[in-house]
Amino acid sequence: MATEPRSSDVQDEVVDLCRDLIRIDTSNYGSDDGPGERKAAEYVAGLLDEVGIASTLHESSPGRTNVIAQWGGDGTRTDGLLVHGHLDVVPAEAADWQVDPFSGEIRDGYVWGRGAVDMKDFDAMVLSVVRARQRAGRIPQRPVTLVFTADEEAGGLRGAGPLIESHRDQFEHCTEAIGEVGGFSATVRGRRMYLIEAAEKGMAWMRLTARGRAGHGSMINDDNAVTRLAAAVARIGTHEWPVTLTPTMRTLLAAVADLAGTEATPENAERLVDEFGPAARMIGATLRQVSNPTQLQAGYKVNVIPTEATAYVDGRFLPGHEDDFFATLAELCGDGIDIDFLSRQRPWETPYEGDLVDAISRSLLAEDPEAVVAPYLMSAGTDAKHFGKLGIRTYGFAPLRLPDDLDFTALFHGVDERVPVDALEFGTRVLDRFFDDV
Ligand SMILES: [Zn+2]
Repeated sequence: MATEPRSSDVQDEVVDLCRDLIRIDTSNYGSDDGPGERKAAEYVAGLLDEVGIASTLHESSPGRTNVIAQWGGDGTRTDGLLVHGHLDVVPAEAADWQVDPFSGEIRDGYVWGRGAVDMKDFDAMVLSVVRARQRAGRIPQRPVTLVFTADEEAGGLRGAGPLIESHRDQFEHCTEAIGEVGGFSATVRGRRMYLIEAAEKGMAWMRLTARGRAGHGSMINDDNAVTRLAAAVARIGTHEWPVTLTPTMRTLLAAVADLAGTEATPENAERLVDEFGPAARMIGATLRQVSNPTQLQAGYKVNVIPTEATAYVDGRFLPGHEDDFFATLAELCGDGIDIDFLSRQRPWETPYEGDLVDAISRSLLAEDPEAVVAPYLMSAGTDAKHFGKLGIRTYGFAPLRLPDDLDFTALFHGVDERVPVDALEFGTRVLDRFFDDV
């Protein structure tokens, strides 16, 4: 494995760029009430322009700005690589934090602030590597499409969603993509394992409605909407979904079992996931389907049986097991309950194989030779869902070498979000090698 040191210029800027991006508040409140992404998008476009990379800004609603730039490509290849990051962040409650969440402060070897891991870190790494390579004339053979999106934190409805419709020509040549959430290390039995996102669960936000016969609370009523709905909600909430392993999770658990000196079976899947320590909270949610009742509404007076009762359920389902999820859910609901979808996003899973996966592994192992690289299934969704609609094979690969004891997954949308300075620098060296190789 080639491990000659990388020149430091690719990592020179990354910390400053990450801090600058954090200082531009792009809080996404799930509406157009926030500051929007325009300022951050202009900042990114300026950084690209400074090194001679032209970009364009696109808005599907005012201030909700996306950046697209085409970079590299020497004409020998037509299959483009998409590199995508989002510019928005979830809001932060400053009073809960040890530092101002929009200060980009450096403390104890970390850059602190909202977006430090989700995902202004990766935006900064990409910009830092692209700028250094462009300055040095080290431009990749493969055409690369750089996209910085708005609104990922609210489902991309003002970002990647409309962007792939209105500017499809900018993505048409792309066959593969890298973005969040993956490439970070978790420590298993003292060995660092880099987790590459190769699949995402689907999401179904559902409203259940039971209708029955209204009437006086003192009388016999065998068609009570509240009773019927409550029984359905209880069945859904207490249902034990079986452990169901997709190809991605089978590959991951085999790698973990290898380190633990055992063999992976569905029976020990949960024990193997526990090897990840705190990261098991996220990874454990991908061993099975999930259906959680979250809201209930019915009635207006204690002695009046209402006509209607409604409940809301957050459902998360596995790629390849969508039909089973909805069939089981309908069965749990039983007769006389209508299901409406408030939001429904499909799951996806990309085979963990091929040249791009090899390039990801090589670039990580060149910087961390003792490590293990494996795919994983993410419990939530990202912009990858939108780009996947174009047939682009996407992977989560935002490389970070993390301290063994850091509860990294808790930092996503968490209080005191922060990223180690040396992890940012590590990530730029890995990405630089990756661009050599793709
Ligand atoms: Zn994110």
